[in-house]
Amino acid sequence: MKRPSVLILGAGYGGLKTAIELQKEFGTDEADITLINKNDYHYETTWLHEAAAGTLLPEEVRYDIKDVIDSVKVKFVKATVEGIDVDGKRVTTDAGDFSYDYLVVALGFEGETFGIPGLDKYALSIANVRAATYIREHIDYQFALWTTEEVKDDSRLTIVVGGAGFTGIEYLGELANRIPELCKEFDIPREKVRILCVEAAPMVLPGFDEALVKYAVGQLEARGIEFSIGTPVVEATPEGVMIKKGEDTTEFIKAGTVVWAAGIRGNRLIEETSIESNRARVKVEKDLRAPGYPDVFIVGDCALMINEEINRPYPPTAQIALQQAEQAAKNIAALSRGDETHAFHPDLKGTVCSLGEHDAIGVAFDRKVTGKKAAFLKKMIDNRALLMIGGFGLVMKKGKLNVF
Ligand code: FAD
Ligand code: NAD
Repeated sequence: MKRPSVLILGAGYGGLKTAIELQKEFGTDEADITLINKNDYHYETTWLHEAAAGTLLPEEVRYDIKDVIDSVKVKFVKATVEGIDVDGKRVTTDAGDFSYDYLVVALGFEGETFGIPGLDKYALSIANVRAATYIREHIDYQFALWTTEEVKDDSRLTIVVGGAGFTGIEYLGELANRIPELCKEFDIPREKVRILCVEAAPMVLPGFDEALVKYAVGQLEARGIEFSIGTPVVEATPEGVMIKKGEDTTEFIKAGTVVWAAGIRGNRLIEETSIESNRARVKVEKDLRAPGYPDVFIVGDCALMINEEINRPYPPTAQIALQQAEQAAKNIAALSRGDETHAFHPDLKGTVCSLGEHDAIGVAFDRKVTGKKAAFLKKMIDNRALLMIGGFGLVMKKGKLNVF
């Protein structure tokens, strides 16, 4: 058997888990496995709303990649991928070029702004750990500036969150906890601060269980969050956002901070390859390979798979990225041994959406949960992701152990 070289791009949930699984699939010297990531740490994307609000520090949501991989079996390279040539089987990075027998693309998501004017320039997106830190510091700065300026501009204290999907709602839950602390720190009356969520669809968390959505909205409103529903953002400027109200009416909302959480796309590098994609997401084959490229696997948010039961794509989630990684690793091992690949079948365990540290809503194993029980479940889910990658050691080091 020829010793295969496997190149994994991205060390988020999909990429890092693929590396961990390949370590188990291959003995020492059976394969050359290289993992490339732009940072030498992994960050928990599912905790970024906490870092962006300031309820967790950036260092709390990340850990060193070398602490969880076996460096004898997996070579880690800190580099930024700049181009993927799937025809020439070469990947270009700022640390040199890499060739491969099998490629795993796990480069994650980017915020989608749908061509809405000004959003790319003036809105902030919870896209990675640095972007999350920037958002937190931007809000701190606006608050600090307000306290020091002679003629006070109260709009500095307005935070607009675009999108009431899971990211928007989880972020609002964190803000509802963090803003009273910030007000205390900066001697700002809480009533001066406005937190407004603007959603295009006629409901919050479109498509989710209505009773749970009602609970979430009630809880967030009671903690000072305002909602503007059925009012899409149509433009962003340095001063705020324009929202559409009805057919011919618009309203401008002046705001010191605009956070865009209204949708995602795959990594733009995908669009520069000859692989067919839609918003940089590749409709993968059942075994997770890219159509027409049998040596390229795509996992996580760059992959798109249809749930045939409802004829709609599976949502891009960490839950699915981790499961896809396991299957991709198995399939790469199978191919290298001359065996057949197997189809990926997601095992969906449910969805829990946090509303801050002590509250949440969710459906788990077909049962609805709210409040502290749901918040407990969310922390267990967060800890499970750590367990799946770094075992109990990582849970003890980085886990959410304060569960009550
Ligand atoms: P990621 O985990 O985002 O990893 C991508 C990796 O690629 C990163 O390490 C990045 O640094 C690296 N990378 C990117 N570009 C380059 C480059 N050019 N060169 C080198 N490296 C690069 N899903 C759930 O199931 N449950 C949840 O509770 C949940 N909560 C979420 C909360 C928030 C705030 C957000 C934003 C998402 C949440 N999701 C949740 C969705 C989930 O985080 C994603 O589906 C998941 O992270 C996808 O995994 P991935 O491996 O594709 O990408
Ligand atoms: P999303 O696409 O799920 O939600 C985006 C929201 O923005 C939608 O409600 C949409 O109607 C709204 N929107 C779109 N255009 C708009 C506009 N112009 N103005 C105002 N609102 C607009 O995106 P997301 O919330 O970032 O989630 C992305 C993925 O990550 C999803 O698959 C989600 O399931 C997953 N996720 C899961 C969790 C969890 O399980 N707890 C948490 C966060 C994210």
